[in-house]
Amino acid sequence: METYEEMLAKVYEKLPEKKGEGERFEMPKFRSFIEGKTTVITNFKDVVSTLRRDPQHLLKFLNRELATPAHYDGRRAILQGRFKEEQLNARLTAYVKEYVLCKECRKPDTELIVFEGVKYKRCEACGARAPVKPL
Ligand SMILES: [Zn+2]
Repeated sequence: METYEEMLAKVYEKLPEKKGEGERFEMPKFRSFIEGKTTVITNFKDVVSTLRRDPQHLLKFLNRELATPAHYDGRRAILQGRFKEEQLNARLTAYVKEYVLCKECRKPDTELIVFEGVKYKRCEACGARAPVKPL
């Protein structure tokens, strides 16, 4: 007699490996620390390169959302004020939903394009195009 677990293991072995559909997007996370009256995001460059977005675009978003000046030194982002990592990551999640993930297929393979003065998020996976909020 096979146990339920053994049966299950066999079933899984037989399932073809799904490429694409099975892939789930992993939300990047900021790593940050507070230094005096500023907050430093140490992995800002890694996050923007994972998302394939312009650092200045994400910076502008944070600047607006947190209502504080922010600048980028080529690697890290430095924000005026003290912000908790969870606070920053909540904003990052909002950014990714609005400016990165495709509304149709939920994939992150999108690019921002400007068409007749309107900014769109265009999906390279399914071709969907949706306007995004101006920053
Ligand atoms: Zn799509």
